Amino acid sequence: MMISSAIWMTAHSKLFFLVVVVFHLLLCCVSVRVCVEGGGMRSWRWQFSRMMRLCLRWCRLCPKRGGRPSKPQRKLRELWSYWKLLLNSLYFNSLTNSDTCLDCVFEPVYWIVDNVTRWFGVVFVCLVIALTSSVLVIVYLCLLPVILNTYPLQWIVWHLTYGHWVLMMVLFHYYKATTTSPGHPPQVKSDTPSVSICKKCIVPKPARTHHCSICNTCILKMDHHCPWLNNCVGHFNHRYFFSFCLYMTMGCMYCSVSCKDMFIEAYNAVESYYQTPPPLFSFREKMVHKSVIFIWVLTSSVAVALGGLTLWHAILITLGETSVERHINKKEIRRLKEKGKVFRNPYHYGKINNWKVLFGVEETSHWLTRVLLPSSHAPHEDGLVWEFPKALTRRDPMTI
Ligand SMILES: [Zn+2]
Ligand SMILES: [Zn+2]
Repeated sequence: MMISSAIWMTAHSKLFFLVVVVFHLLLCCVSVRVCVEGGGMRSWRWQFSRMMRLCLRWCRLCPKRGGRPSKPQRKLRELWSYWKLLLNSLYFNSLTNSDTCLDCVFEPVYWIVDNVTRWFGVVFVCLVIALTSSVLVIVYLCLLPVILNTYPLQWIVWHLTYGHWVLMMVLFHYYKATTTSPGHPPQVKSDTPSVSICKKCIVPKPARTHHCSICNTCILKMDHHCPWLNNCVGHFNHRYFFSFCLYMTMGCMYCSVSCKDMFIEAYNAVESYYQTPPPLFSFREKMVHKSVIFIWVLTSSVAVALGGLTLWHAILITLGETSVERHINKKEIRRLKEKGKVFRNPYHYGKINNWKVLFGVEETSHWLTRVLLPSSHAPHEDGLVWEFPKALTRRDPMTI
């Protein structure tokens, strides 16, 4: 005990001695510095307070390990916490997932696409009109004379009837699809049942209503924004849009098939231009060759592309979904499947009934007057409330 206390005393004596020496040296340094700066000796109290101040400053500059962080570190941490809070307050909610983050990252791209589509909508419409007009001019000037001069009477009647019927349907439905408003929810307070509030328009959104960022408004039963129509496809023009796609595909297929033989002839003729000696074709004949090749390539390409789009929309209509609902329902199916439940679309009235609702068919004669001939009748319901049509027979049980 005595030995250990002696050792302890010895160790502390050494430490004490060291502190005294350091203190003395520092005091000397300070004294010398003061002498040099001030030109004279100061009192020991002043030197002691100066010494203490120096020690305190030194302690502040060198924080202990695990103690308080330095000022720049604190600033940096505060800044990081602030940005984290700001970001979370803007984007974080219980539904935040990788899709939401990706949407945020691609927001500038969406903004560019929205603006380009908005401003180029008129250009797209002009392009549709110009291309359709060029096909019509070529058909009337190049194809029709050949049909009238070479085909038997029954084929002439068929071509004239079918061609003009398709043309009439295409023109009517394109005009109606571009000029008919897709429908918007009421902007004033009403008793319409709504499922949510639009964050952009700050108005209640009825079922099947979605906001279009290009039109910058909410659309009833929104399907998608079509740049070729420069209009949204919604509740009031969905039928016109689908009929236009259908009849345009039929028209393009008709042109492509009808002028196939003429295309092969014209292609061979154009290839022979580069033979030696070159065949003697007049300017008019050369123009006819190039026009026939143009019309065949254009109508075949459109028939394939638009045919695929029409088929896709036909599947959606059969299932009672819009393009927007397709994405929502797919997520919902996955979510409910994980819980062991089955999702049933509440707007799926049955395969045939869905088509009847779209075309507004209430009687058998309507298939002729409302589907195969131009008709401006209003769609079923007002797009705000969705109930099963009374005129139709329910086949599938409505369960969710
Ligand atoms: Zn909106
Ligand atoms: Zn739109």
